Amino acid sequence: MKAAGAGGIGIVVGDVLTTNAFGQTGLPPKPITMSNDEWFAQRAWSVSANRVVPDADGKPQPVTSLAKRIHRPKSAAEIAAIVKSLPPSTPVACVCGGHEASGTALIANDNAEILDLIELKKIEFGHSGDDQLVTVGSGVVFRELVEAVKTHGGALPVGTGPGVGVAGYVTNGGLSSYFSRRLGLLGQRVVEMTIVTADGDIRTLTPEDTLFTAMLGAGSALAIVVDMTIRVAAADAIKHAEQLVFGFENRAQAIEFSRTVMQFMKEKVIPNESVSLELVVTGTKALVATIVFYDTFTGSTADFIRPLQDAAAGQDLPTLATAEWNSWYEAAAALWPVIAEQKGSPLATSYHCVGTTGIPEAKVLDFVADVVVGEAPLNEAGMSIVEIRTLGGATQKGRRLPSGNCHHAFFVDLVTLYDAGSKSPAERQEIVDLTNRVVDKSRAMPGLSVDFSGTHSQPDDIGRSAVASEIFGSQAMATAVEEQKKKMDPNNRFRFHPFSKFLS
Ligand SMILES: Cc1cc2nc3c(=O)[nH]c(=O)nc-3n(C[C@H](O)[C@H](O)[C@H](O)COP(=O)(O)OP(=O)(O)OC[C@H]3O[C@@H](n4cnc5c(N)ncnc54)[C@H](O)[C@@H]3O)c2cc1C
Repeated sequence: MKAAGAGGIGIVVGDVLTTNAFGQTGLPPKPITMSNDEWFAQRAWSVSANRVVPDADGKPQPVTSLAKRIHRPKSAAEIAAIVKSLPPSTPVACVCGGHEASGTALIANDNAEILDLIELKKIEFGHSGDDQLVTVGSGVVFRELVEAVKTHGGALPVGTGPGVGVAGYVTNGGLSSYFSRRLGLLGQRVVEMTIVTADGDIRTLTPEDTLFTAMLGAGSALAIVVDMTIRVAAADAIKHAEQLVFGFENRAQAIEFSRTVMQFMKEKVIPNESVSLELVVTGTKALVATIVFYDTFTGSTADFIRPLQDAAAGQDLPTLATAEWNSWYEAAAALWPVIAEQKGSPLATSYHCVGTTGIPEAKVLDFVADVVVGEAPLNEAGMSIVEIRTLGGATQKGRRLPSGNCHHAFFVDLVTLYDAGSKSPAERQEIVDLTNRVVDKSRAMPGLSVDFSGTHSQPDDIGRSAVASEIFGSQAMATAVEEQKKKMDPNNRFRFHPFSKFLS
């Protein structure tokens, strides 16, 4: 028999009732009966680009879940009962949306128990004073949250992927390219959280708890989130958005256009917090500029975007499409159809980011144009993109979280993405090598941060890893997270997360 834990929890391993912190009793639910392969195919959006290359022995690596058992708990009490029923050293992996690029939680290991949180679909609205709040279960994905927030006239700094898990995004410090400059990181809007600890205790955390802050950027290493309560912004915080899509034929054109747009970003957008700009350079030879105007913007939106149109005209780039959005919802949902087209057998991916905390110097912009845009494997991995973004604004002014994202004003994301079924092992290796070459060159570039985000770094890169002080934003935050890790999870049960190389 295992001893009772804090909060009055009693537990006997085996077929015996457990009593949780809220006084409920119950057996741990039975694991799912679906095979690991079937479950993985259903829940994994992609597999890591590092997994579809032969390993050092020349053998392919498994692209399925290795877990011993997979559970689908329906409540905090069921999560607690499962955790309590296991030996304290058994590793536990949590899966929310299944979109993390290395797939570490989906794959886990052969001793691990996976908690697939897909059944935790609560979305409940409430109020605290003048603030509208929404409580979101840890199985909720962005499409569900965005649709619900729309009906309540709200806005949130959500991620672009409709299937990305809200909990997986927040616990790894996720950012919104379109909305974070005005609304901060989603984690900066969280006011309360229910968790289950590595001991199986159910706890409610508020901003006064040290663990609360640590959860909003390093949470996937510390505890299991059951739900989060988030402060909703008014929908009219987002006034208008324009998207301009230009075509290019060769990389030199993409480099030149990116350089001009980044100069515009530096001079006109980064110093002006009432607007954000994202330029996406795609493997399908498009340059997609999205300009989001916030409620604080004054002046003519047409005048504001004209230099971008002039730059494209000056290079004779054809306009492929234009779009205007007049609500937060339209902008939040705009990329869903594009992302729905990203398919592969399997879809292989890796994520990396670079950026600066202040206004980028000219040599940094040249580097991003010449190397990140110029050398990214856009031809070899055809669905790949380079996203060049403004951040900062409310994100830099808001509460400090353990995420490099809340320190950066300028953010470039290299998403390597392709259909592995259409590539030979040698071609897959070439894609990994080309991506690594860009990352290595970026690390050598003074003034540029590299892999400072839990949602835009690739934890399974071989021989490469983000640094704790960079990914958590500062050495002090890294130390605070390490202390929480030792205190909350001394057996390192929660080891399947983007920080696993340096946090155990
Ligand atoms: C199409 C697409 C669009 C994206 N857009 C953005 C974007 O706009 N901004 C951005 O920042 N990122 C973005 N990302 C990256 C994404 O936010 C991260 O990969 C995120 O971690 C995925 O969360 P998930 O729940 O879907 O993944 P999962 O693989 O389920 O989880 C990711 C990590 O979080 C942990 N975790 C999940 N749920 C819990 C829980 N309840 N408690 C504790 N730990 C938990 C898991 O164990 C795992 O370590 C995008 C990714 C894709 C594929």
